[in-house]
Amino acid sequence: MTFPDLPTGLAEALAQRGYDAPTPVQAAVLEPEAHGRDLVVSAQTGSGKTVAFGLAFAAQVLGEDGRVNPSDAPSALVIAPTRELALQVSRELAWLYQKAGARIATCVGGMNPSQERRVLKSGATIVVGTPGRLRDHLERGALDLSALAAVVLDEADEMLDMGFREELEEILDATPNTRRTLLFSATMPRPIEALAKRYQRNALRIATTGAE
Ligand code: ADP
Ligand code: MG
Repeated sequence: MTFPDLPTGLAEALAQRGYDAPTPVQAAVLEPEAHGRDLVVSAQTGSGKTVAFGLAFAAQVLGEDGRVNPSDAPSALVIAPTRELALQVSRELAWLYQKAGARIATCVGGMNPSQERRVLKSGATIVVGTPGRLRDHLERGALDLSALAAVVLDEADEMLDMGFREELEEILDATPNTRRTLLFSATMPRPIEALAKRYQRNALRIATTGAE
């Protein structure tokens, strides 16, 4: 199987990277029944979840022409538990979205916050960050979530384990009701169900096994 019906820029990026076929979780989020829906996705570590959500929110980030919408406020937000994971996600989305013209802002603890604010102000398409730092930017008015069309909680299980519930709720509460909410994790413990219930509507559940 090859990647189905992707915007040209994304298809080219995947081909250039040598990704000829989607992993099972990537195939699942690209199924027509998943289009536009809220998702709860559990798939083991190493199964390609980053590209999966990167492709899943393409329709919220790119226009009909496959290029980014010319808006100053970000269209998609990815929240990850640690600085290292956020940087990894950011790097992966950077090559995936480069040809489509998306600008990625990374907001993580340990980085210079004023430099992050400048990047946010200069117009980022996709913002990737850790819960605490994202909340700081939100509270200082540097992160505008008013045009957000998709939010991803990556490693949602780990973020809840680490005690980030309050930060996550504050961020989610600042996003438009019309956004898609995508919960990704390796396991689906009960606290995720509570988050899903509060922040999702008619979510599609996807659980894959194995990386191939
Ligand atoms: P997860 O988040 O599920 O732990 P990652 O998104 O970090 O997994 O991906 C694991 C590895 O697989 C990464 O090195 C990624 O670049 C690679 N990968 C992802 N999708 C594909 C694909 N379709 N073909 C080949 N390699 C892929
Ligand atoms: Mg991951």
